[in-house]
Amino acid sequence: MPELCPRCDEPMRADLVRSAIWLGDRLCIVEDVPAQVCDACAEQFYDEPTTDALRRLTEAGFPASEAIREVRVPVFSLRTRLSQDQTP
Ligand SMILES: [Zn+2]
Repeated sequence: MPELCPRCDEPMRADLVRSAIWLGDRLCIVEDVPAQVCDACAEQFYDEPTTDALRRLTEAGFPASEAIREVRVPVFSLRTRLSQDQTP
């Protein structure tokens, strides 16, 4: 019997997810995060040990020595697109 989503009451499934956490200007990605995932509302829920582990990693400031790899990500701005949309 799957757990029901606290938000929308649909059944959730257990999965390993990825979480992106901003620490000031620094973006850190955490993989292999066990979660209950709701496909109906796209919400993800972590159990207490997982929440604790994420909090400890955040409090430790995401030590670079623990990173398993690094990725380059493109950065976009909506500034131009928004000012185009606002042009009458
Ligand atoms: Zn839901």
